[in-house]
Amino acid sequence: MPAPPRLAFEGVTKAYGAMRAVDDVTLAIEPGQFVALVGQSGSGKSTLLKTVNRLIEPDAGRVTIDGADVSDGPAPALRRRIGYVFQNVGLFPHLTVAENIAMPQRIGGAPVDVAARLDQVELPRELASRSPAQLSGGQRQRVGLARALAGEAKLLLMDEPFGALDPLTRDALGRRVRGLHDQLGLTTLLVTHDMAEALLLADRVLVMDAGRIVADATPAELLAGRGGSIADALVAVPREQARALAAMDRE
Ligand code: ADP
Ligand code: MG
Repeated sequence: MPAPPRLAFEGVTKAYGAMRAVDDVTLAIEPGQFVALVGQSGSGKSTLLKTVNRLIEPDAGRVTIDGADVSDGPAPALRRRIGYVFQNVGLFPHLTVAENIAMPQRIGGAPVDVAARLDQVELPRELASRSPAQLSGGQRQRVGLARALAGEAKLLLMDEPFGALDPLTRDALGRRVRGLHDQLGLTTLLVTHDMAEALLLADRVLVMDAGRIVADATPAELLAGRGGSIADALVAVPREQARALAAMDRE
């Protein structure tokens, strides 16, 4: 099994006019880490993520995977090595579930075992012949995850993948993603605006604000208040909810 990669950002900057969506970000994600990137809407999370698979080219700085600049070589080959899941999944509506999952094969990769991929994301095999329109939102996200992993990518990028799902589906899918990360030996970068999700799933949480990384800490450190004021404000939300629920439970 190939080793999970190391992902590094070195001075990555991307501006739209005078506004720096990503402002001089330098950090490394070590092989096998599950990192959550959290921040308010508009803080630059998606822009930073997209510099990895070259959907966005930075104005300055570079992104490397195992030391190699992602801008060396053709983008399609790069993208085959990266699993990418985003909120609106982007399944092809005119293709079946099986055909969607096997897309990496159609664009030049190794053959895909669709049944095994369905098992991996805990979808019944009989869904293989359905069209995406015949699935629930959670099932569609699972197909998106299966497709992202079908090319045997070792780097998994997810951009608010659970955003549109109900809480139970979201929770189950989050656990499945974390389980697959551990089982397959991946390096994972999950973008979310939900601090509770980040704290529960990740080994390490990055907090982004106005294009900059303002906190980089473990969930335990963040819960202990060691992430600084912006992180504290985000951690306060799930903490207050947990406290209120615990208080109701005692009544
Ligand atoms: P997030 O994912 O954290 O919500 P984004 O990375 O999508 O944030 O956006 C960061 C900032 O860059 C926002 O202010 C957004 O409006 C701006 N932005 C993103 N894409 C573009 C674009 N193509 N043109 C102009 N501004 C953009
Ligand atoms: Mg975004």
